[in-house]
Amino acid sequence: MKNYFSRLYILTIFLIISFTSQAQEKYSLQPDGVFDGEQLHTGWVVIVEDDKITAIGPAPQVPVPTGATTLKFPGCTLIPGMIEGHAHLLLHPYNEADWNDQVLKESDAIRVARATIHARNTLRAGFTTVRDLGTEGAGYADVGLKQAIEQGIIPGPRMLVAGRAIVATGSYGPTGFDTDFNVMLGAEPADGNDLVRVVRDQIGKGADVIKVYADYRWGPAGDAQPTFSLDELKLVVETARSSGRAVVAHATTAEGMRRAILAGVETIEHGDDGTTEIFRLMKDKDVAFCATLSAGEAVSHYRGWRKGIDPIPEQIKRKRASFAEALKSGVTICAGGDVGVFAHGDNARELEMMVEYGMRATDVLRSVTSINARVFHLESKVGRIVPGLIADLVVVRGNPTKDISDLRKVEWVMKNGVVITTE
Ligand SMILES: [Zn+2]
Repeated sequence: MKNYFSRLYILTIFLIISFTSQAQEKYSLQPDGVFDGEQLHTGWVVIVEDDKITAIGPAPQVPVPTGATTLKFPGCTLIPGMIEGHAHLLLHPYNEADWNDQVLKESDAIRVARATIHARNTLRAGFTTVRDLGTEGAGYADVGLKQAIEQGIIPGPRMLVAGRAIVATGSYGPTGFDTDFNVMLGAEPADGNDLVRVVRDQIGKGADVIKVYADYRWGPAGDAQPTFSLDELKLVVETARSSGRAVVAHATTAEGMRRAILAGVETIEHGDDGTTEIFRLMKDKDVAFCATLSAGEAVSHYRGWRKGIDPIPEQIKRKRASFAEALKSGVTICAGGDVGVFAHGDNARELEMMVEYGMRATDVLRSVTSINARVFHLESKVGRIVPGLIADLVVVRGNPTKDISDLRKVEWVMKNGVVITTE
């Protein structure tokens, strides 16, 4: 990588300027292939001026502006900056410290310090935008992290943040303590009409989206069961929507998913026990599905499962089956891995698993670019390579429409028209 870098980019090294400033540069980008968010084109070029994409098309037809720096990327594919649909930048892998310990024992200071590295690694992996779905006990540290990135204090992706997220009283963890103790929870409890106040309070403190847990593992045997009533979820959606914000729901049970869908949430996270009927309902109501395939496998792995050696755990068999049902139903599929459960910067793992679980590589690429942008209401800014959109661009070696793992071979990243060092 280092040799490749110096060989190809020695002339442009001076252009690798600070991520803090807006670009005042023009580029003619000439890879072998351009995936524009919808399809792959060969022999196309992309022109960037300042922070915007200004032209795309077959090389002979696209005029190169005077003063533009030409960057040739032989053997490479240019794609829109990828959009991680489900991240927790304030969490780190559960085999390093389990979730309870992260929430209860790690100070916000150390969690934020880690998060700055997570943000940098995410960006370097070609993910120029993340939807961060809850700080899990770190208050509104995600809002501050987002501000630090926007102000150029640290490198990182553009962020949509959920802040603390909302859970029903009694449902969420950490649990298992003497009831004399009031332990800090991983999210903010609220119920009934108080949900109106809490949604508004989270908005006021910087939440871009409202996340609710429509079910959780609080059944009699620790099984997942619905939490909020349909009316409560409707109240959350109505309150958030009147501020122009979307609600996203954690839901793994069919009933939790059903209530969230009927209440008007925009995406369902996880959906492990989704049925044919539920996925059809999602399609009818235009609710998108973020399956977080890699989180489940990561947790099984931490418990000792050796993929390819040990028998496939029951939970993973069910997840494969429900994802197949989702694909058949035609529901909109977002790409989001619940990264944080596994390492930030390893975001491509989810995309590989989407292919492994039955999706075509080109469809996965659409999900992680143009579809995520549309579902997250970012389509007028990012997610495709078309004139007028922000120049968030990534070059990977190989052709990820043929081999999705080529997304790991990141050669070059641009965010806001500024080249990001990937060394
Ligand atoms: Zn999550």
